[in-house]
Amino acid sequence: MSLESIRNRVRAAERQAGRTPESVTLIAVSKEQPPERVLDTLALGHRIYGENRVQEAAGKWPEWRAEFGPIELHLLGPLQSNKTRQAMELFDVIHSLDRPKLARGFARLAQDLGRCPSLFIQINTGAEPQKAGVLPDAADAFIHEARGMDLPLAGLMCIPPVDEDPAGHFRMLAAIAARNGLDGLSMGMSDDFETAIACGATHVRVGSAIFGARG
Ligand SMILES: *Cc1c(COP(=O)(O)O)cnc(C)c1O
Repeated sequence: MSLESIRNRVRAAERQAGRTPESVTLIAVSKEQPPERVLDTLALGHRIYGENRVQEAAGKWPEWRAEFGPIELHLLGPLQSNKTRQAMELFDVIHSLDRPKLARGFARLAQDLGRCPSLFIQINTGAEPQKAGVLPDAADAFIHEARGMDLPLAGLMCIPPVDEDPAGHFRMLAAIAARNGLDGLSMGMSDDFETAIACGATHVRVGSAIFGARG
C-alpha cells in the first residue's frame, strides 16, 4: 500500500457514495512509524497526520513543522487531564474528548491560550468496558454539556469493536451526530475506511495501509 493508492481509494469511495469530491479528510496515522516512512509522505506533499500520544508527537512534529511548514496535527488517542495544555498547544484537532473534566479543562485553558483545537467527542458505540468514549446513552447529554461550555465541537469519533461489523457502529455514530446537529464524523481505519465513507465519514484515520505495519 502507499499514500497514493489510499488517496485514490478515498476519492473512489466518495464517488461511489455520491459524496462531494474531496469532502473526506484523509488523516495519515503516523504513530509508531519509522521516521523515514513519514518523511516519504511529507515529501509527497501530505500535510494531515494523526498521533495517539502527546509525548510521542511532541518528540517529532515540532521539528517537521519547522522543516515542512504548516501541518495539521490530530490527536486520536486518550488524553490524560494533566497533558491537556500540552495537547492543546501541539494539536489542531483532538478526537478523544470523552468526559466532563476534560471538557472543563479545554474550556479553561482556551481562555488562557486564546485558542482551542477543534474537538471530536469520542463515543464508545460498542459500550466496551476497556474502551474510552462516552456511552451511547449518555451522548446527547454530554454533547449538550460541552456546547454549554462554548467548545468548538467538530463532531463525533468512534472505534468500533474489532470483532463486529463496523457498519452498524458507523451508522449509530452518524445518527447521534445528525440528531445533535453535528457535521463531523471521524470514523474508519485501514480495514474499513471505505465502509465508513459510505456511512458518512468526514475524516478517516488510516495508518498501516499507508505506512505498513507499525513497530
Ligand atoms: C492506530 C489508530 C488508527 C489507525 O489504525 P490503522 O489500522 O493502522 O489504520 C486510527 N484511529 C485510532 C484511534 C488509532 O489508534
